[in-house]
Amino acid sequence: MLKGQAASQWFVYGTLYTVAILSFGIKFILKYRHNSYEVIRTGSVMFFQTTFAFLIPEIMAGLNSTKDLPYYDLKNVWPLNYYLFEQWNVNALLVNGSLGMTMLLFGVASILVITPILTYKFGKRWYCSWVCGCGGLAETAGDSFRQLSDKSTSAWKIERWLVHSVLVFAVISTVGIVHSYLPKNNTYKIWEDGAVVKQYDTFFTQSNFLILVGTSLTIIFALIWIFRRNELKQDARYGAIGFLFMILAFIGIHFMSGTENLFFFNHGAVKSAYGFLIGAVFSGVIGTGFYPILGNRAWCRFGCPMAAILGLQQRLFSKFRITTNGGQCISCGNCSTYCEMGIDVRSYAQKGGENIVRASCVGCGICSAVCPRGGVLKLENGPLEGRINSEAVLLGQEPDLMELLSNNKK
Ligand code: SF4
Ligand code: SF4
Repeated sequence: MLKGQAASQWFVYGTLYTVAILSFGIKFILKYRHNSYEVIRTGSVMFFQTTFAFLIPEIMAGLNSTKDLPYYDLKNVWPLNYYLFEQWNVNALLVNGSLGMTMLLFGVASILVITPILTYKFGKRWYCSWVCGCGGLAETAGDSFRQLSDKSTSAWKIERWLVHSVLVFAVISTVGIVHSYLPKNNTYKIWEDGAVVKQYDTFFTQSNFLILVGTSLTIIFALIWIFRRNELKQDARYGAIGFLFMILAFIGIHFMSGTENLFFFNHGAVKSAYGFLIGAVFSGVIGTGFYPILGNRAWCRFGCPMAAILGLQQRLFSKFRITTNGGQCISCGNCSTYCEMGIDVRSYAQKGGENIVRASCVGCGICSAVCPRGGVLKLENGPLEGRINSEAVLLGQEPDLMELLSNNKK
């Protein structure tokens, strides 16, 4: 009815997904009805799932009478939407005139412009806890399992390696796939049934594209290294390894990959492997099916490349932080127990006032909601200066109070 066509299997899937978020969302709102942040946040994920992911794409496709637009979840940003830059999707958008072109440009702007600005202002919570469908399902249907997340330091180490490796893999495979269908000269042709249906003059030749991506990444990495190295601490070195790996891969793509192959693998096989292993097994089967074993945010924490990008932005240049008032903390541990991202929130509060500025924090606010001492944990936005204040608190077992007092007087 929405599209004026028979429903596809994706429509059925979207319907079930939306119904799950709506029904469990109502349950969640009733449970946290005394906490306005939780009520509004859950209303937001229910709204974005119902409209941006479900109704609007169907209605837009129905209004577009000339060609079939591909299904496009407007709130799914690359790399979460891993097929955005695949040839079939790009071609389908391009042949659909200005509407398709607008959607393609919106997809590019989402990751390059909209995402960094919103994360700067609000932290990654604007997406992970207020908009994202995966996060929406985790927060609503997965609410009963949030306490099962692993809080150990080894889980934190695995998380950082795994999620950033998936991101590096997503960047390299996307660049390789786009490179495979771009022209060697400046004319991009769209073929259908053996005939050219459209052609465009384009700056994006294979070599220009690789140079552009490599140069952009180098500039971003250089800026981080010069101005924000301290925020990453020892992880800056791992970031450098990831960056070098990507640049070497781009050089490899230039010399070793063609229209058929990405290095030694067929493109179709790489796309299927990514779609199956990351898109289906990791995000679907493990990420959702394993809620009762790994907690409700296993995918967001260990596998989502979008969460990895937003987490880097949050750590490097966001105004968001959770402030702690350690003097009132009674060390009950509720906050750590119910943190779905496995953050030991209590340890921050116990240090006497260290802000929580963690890349993985999705700003769900549950740590604050379950704290029996209201006001200890607050989700706040503030200036960038001084937000990472781990050195500013009393870390020693026996601080010399007389010395601190005399320093304060000075
Ligand atoms: S630290 Fe608090 S706001 Fe952040 S993910 Fe954990 S429970 Fe949610
Ligand atoms: S829930 Fe509140 S009181 Fe309990 S440990 Fe966490 S910050 Fe302290």
